Amino acid sequence: MHGTRILEEADRLMTVCNSCRYCEGLCAVFPAMEMRRSFSDGDLNYLANLCHACGACYTDCQFSPPHEFNVNVPKTLAVARAESWAAYAWPRAFSSLFARNGLAISLIAASSVAAFIFGFAALTDHKVLVGIHTGPGAFYALMPHNAMAALFGVAFLYAMTALAMGVRAFWRDIGEPVGMRVEPASLWQAIKDAGQLRYLDGGGVGCFNEDERPTDHRKVYHHLTFYGFLLCFAATSVATLYHYFLGREAPYTWWDLPVVLGTLGGFGLLVGPAGLLAEKFRRDPALVDEKRTGMDVAFIVMLFLTSLTGIALLLLRDTAAMGPLLALHLGVVFALFITLPYGKFVHGFYRYVALVRYARERRMMGLS
Ligand code: SF4
Ligand code: SF4
Repeated sequence: MHGTRILEEADRLMTVCNSCRYCEGLCAVFPAMEMRRSFSDGDLNYLANLCHACGACYTDCQFSPPHEFNVNVPKTLAVARAESWAAYAWPRAFSSLFARNGLAISLIAASSVAAFIFGFAALTDHKVLVGIHTGPGAFYALMPHNAMAALFGVAFLYAMTALAMGVRAFWRDIGEPVGMRVEPASLWQAIKDAGQLRYLDGGGVGCFNEDERPTDHRKVYHHLTFYGFLLCFAATSVATLYHYFLGREAPYTWWDLPVVLGTLGGFGLLVGPAGLLAEKFRRDPALVDEKRTGMDVAFIVMLFLTSLTGIALLLLRDTAAMGPLLALHLGVVFALFITLPYGKFVHGFYRYVALVRYARERRMMGLS
C-alpha cells in the first residue's frame, strides 16, 4: 500500500515495466527501476524525479493507451513528481501553494511590483521616481543599496533554506542517511548529467513533444534558460563583489563584466523561456499533467519577465523611465525569489539529487 493514488499507479507501471524492460536504454529511470523488485514510496519519488519527461517511453510503448494496460509512464511520473515536491515542502503549511502556484505567483508578483513603486515614492520625494539619474549610484537614488541588499538577501536566504529543507526530506525518504558523505565522483557525475541534460534525449534520438518525430528543441531551450539564469546570477554576484570590495557602484558601463554577463544571460532567459512556453503549448495532451500547467507557465513567465524588465532597464537606464523600470524589475525578481521553493524551480534540485543517487547506485553495483 502506498500513501497516494498516484504512487499506487506508479507502482503498477513500474511492475509492468520491470517485466517488459523494452525501454531500458532510454534514460536512467528504467535501469534504476531494474535494481529493485518492489518499490517503496521513497523509491517511486526517486524514480519520478529521475524522469526528464522526454516522452520516449510513451511513444515506444506497446502497452500505452488504447491498450488495456494503459501504460503512461511520463504522465504518471510527472504527477508523482509534482506531488512529491508538495509533500517535501518546508514549512509544510505552505505545501498547498504548489497546487495554486500560478495564481499565487501572479498575486505575489503584482503586489511586489506595487510595493516597490509605492515604497520608492514613500522613501524619497515622489518626483525622484520619474527623475533622470545617471552615473555610479544612480539606482540608489530610489532605494539605498543597504536596504536593497538586506531585502533581497533575506528573501534569497529564506528561499535557499526552504529548498534545502525540502531536499533534505527527499534525501532521507529515498533511503539515504542525512549527513552521509557522498563521494565526489557521484556528485561530479550528476553535475555532468544535469549540465548536459543527458536524459532529455529519448535515448539519443531527441525529445518527443507534440508528435512521434523527436527533436532537440526542448533541450536547447532548457539549456538557454538554465545557463541564462546562471549567467544572470553570476552578473549579480560579480556586481556585489564590485560594490563591497572595489567600492564601485552600479550601474556599470556596457563593457563591464556584470553587464556583459547579465546581457548574455538575459538573452538566454528571453529566448529559452519563450521557446519552452511554445513547446509546452504544442505538447501532446497525453503527456501533460494538466493540474500543474499553471505552475509551469507561471515559472516560465516569471523568468521571461525577469529578463525582459532587466534588459529594458539596461536600455533605458539614462532616461526618466529608469525609476518605474527599476521598481518593476525588483518587484518581479523579489516575487521570483520568494516563490522559488513552491514552484517549478525546485525540479532542478530534486532532479540533481536523484542523479547523485543514481550515480552512487551504479558505482556501488560496479556499473561505472
Ligand atoms: S514503458 Fe512500455 S515498453 Fe517501456 S518498459 Fe514499460 S511497458 Fe515496456
Ligand atoms: S519520459 Fe523519458 S525520461 Fe521519463 S521515464 Fe520515459 S524515457 Fe525516461
